[in-house]
Amino acid sequence: CGIVAYIGDGQAIPVLIDSLKMLEYRGYDSAGVTIFNDTLETYKVAGRIKELEKVIPESVKGNVGIGHTRWATHGKPETRNAHPHLSSNISVVHNGIIENYLELKERLIGLGYEFQSDTDTEVIAHLLHFNMNQEGGRSLLEGLKETVKELNGSYAIGAMCNENADMIAFARKDSPLVIGIGKGNNYAASDVTAFLKHTKEVIFINDNEIGLLRPDSIEIYDMEGNSVSRDTETIEWDL
Ligand code: GLU
Repeated sequence: CGIVAYIGDGQAIPVLIDSLKMLEYRGYDSAGVTIFNDTLETYKVAGRIKELEKVIPESVKGNVGIGHTRWATHGKPETRNAHPHLSSNISVVHNGIIENYLELKERLIGLGYEFQSDTDTEVIAHLLHFNMNQEGGRSLLEGLKETVKELNGSYAIGAMCNENADMIAFARKDSPLVIGIGKGNNYAASDVTAFLKHTKEVIFINDNEIGLLRPDSIEIYDMEGNSVSRDTETIEWDL
């Protein structure tokens, strides 16, 4: 029931784990992370964040990652249903509900995609993979834009791709999503408490906006692809 993302010059795992712990109060049954450690590596558990920490080897390093605490809506609380969900070189975390997932799932199965979970979320990963491989190849951002156009329901999404590991893509509709702006470090989460100890400069993402986090920049676009410029807000309270 929470998503987090980090990209910057620090180690992503401690930041992601701490951010997920800050979101524990929202309730959850499973947790997981994907980190870019030369290639995307994903760790997930049906259980507490403490259990997740135990399955991530010490040797896993990397400066880019996404994380999730899940409150199951579609599919039992089992490890294979925990997020992130993968489609070969792509990893996705999602809060919300994809109402037309069955129809999308059927179409994607027809296209040869193999599903590993019972979640509604997994269609986002495969659809993103499909869309990134159309029209001679699309970027992560373009692929995500085409993907969310096909989704009915609610979502806050964080997505990473092996070939574009210097960025994290995000999108939102009817699920909260806020960006935290640091110096050489950027964050995204369902709730500012996730990253408030690192930065108080934030941008609340609106419905039907998508964008990219890079270590030194944030890009936000509307669904027509127009760049959206937004002032940052300063959070005035402490944890
Ligand atoms: N609907 C998704 C699932 O069941 C996401 C649930 C959530 O927001 O945690 O996996």
